Amino acid sequence: RFITLEGGEGVGKSTNLAWVADHLSARGLEVVRTREPGGTPRAEAIRSLLLDPADEEPLDVDAELLLVFAARAQHLARVVRPALERGAWVVCDRFTDATFAYQGGGRGIAAARIAELEAFVQQGLQPDLTLLLDMPMAAAQRRLEGRLDRDGGARDRFERERGAFFEAVRRAYLARAAEAPRRIAVVDADRPLAQVQAELARRLDACLER
Ligand code: C5P
Repeated sequence: RFITLEGGEGVGKSTNLAWVADHLSARGLEVVRTREPGGTPRAEAIRSLLLDPADEEPLDVDAELLLVFAARAQHLARVVRPALERGAWVVCDRFTDATFAYQGGGRGIAAARIAELEAFVQQGLQPDLTLLLDMPMAAAQRRLEGRLDRDGGARDRFERERGAFFEAVRRAYLARAAEAPRRIAVVDADRPLAQVQAELARRLDACLER
């Protein structure tokens, strides 16, 4: 099965991704934990290109979109499809819903254009379950500020974006969830971690039984 984790900055995605992978491993399943953009050496090289601030040459939004899908094609061919074919569970940090959220909602590319590339690259492949960690922007911002302070303020190109951008990203994620309610579970992440993880466990166990 193919499980993806999504959410804006500061919603607790990394902590919960590790927890999801451990939860499935503890049930004796082979788990392949991976991420997008990236997940293979060449796709990670594309990720570096995407995150490079390179202020002297701004990245064109369509070029950004195509790089995201180029990385995805490589990742699907080399990691995701082979793992699914041998029966492993793939747990992926971000996938195409992030493209609709960031390049679509955030950067303003029309969803219909993104959907064309989705069809071209994925050939119908969709996650079996997507866990969308959601919280109001103000709460996520507060958590992010704490993290940036701890990291000495290091930020990539996207984490420097603010306000309106993050709000648009969240809105696009929620719109995606409304279109695919059977696949995408919206999980209220603005709660104690134990409660969030109890809900993740319920969603995963339902997917296990299918
Ligand atoms: O998931 P993670 O936070 O590590 O992603 C790194 C950065 O890449 C994030 O700041 C996110 O905003 C950005 N990103 C993006 N478009 C995507 C996926 C990630 O802008 N499709």
